[in-house]
Amino acid sequence: MLNTAKKSARVMNIIHDSIVDGPGLRTVIFFAGCEHRCKGCHNPESWNYQNGSEMTVEQILAEIKANPITNVTFSGGDPFFQADVVIDLAKLVKDLGKNLWVYTGYTLEQIQVNNRYDELLKYVDVLVDGPFIESEKDYSIDFRGSRNQKIHYLSPR
Ligand code: SF4
Repeated sequence: MLNTAKKSARVMNIIHDSIVDGPGLRTVIFFAGCEHRCKGCHNPESWNYQNGSEMTVEQILAEIKANPITNVTFSGGDPFFQADVVIDLAKLVKDLGKNLWVYTGYTLEQIQVNNRYDELLKYVDVLVDGPFIESEKDYSIDFRGSRNQKIHYLSPR
């Protein structure tokens, strides 16, 4: 069992039963903090970590457990800017047997060469990657805001 009792993250919001952040019903954790600063970002208030509330890993996990039938999505902001605690949470989500999608403004290739970030990929079933690019905006594509963003299936689930 991970010793996560003292760890905490800055969280903008948690919503339950989302149908737009991956397939099926999902509990979505919107982590605070993003340094990509994409032009046309739909959620610029999430850039500042201080705009989020401090939540312990146990509190976030309790929200996830509260809804036993939903799978889980980490979004933001960009979860990778709080990679240390997000990796621990991802392990716990997988221990619950839930499917995990993660949204990031980084590309998969950038994450794979980053020693601090690549560990999270071990626990991610699906990564939706890339910055939001206004000139590529297309709300008709599933689960993404711009055409440059890609859905990477990292596990057989
Ligand atoms: S990665 Fe997402 S949250 Fe961050 S600036 Fe880009 S669109 Fe906004």
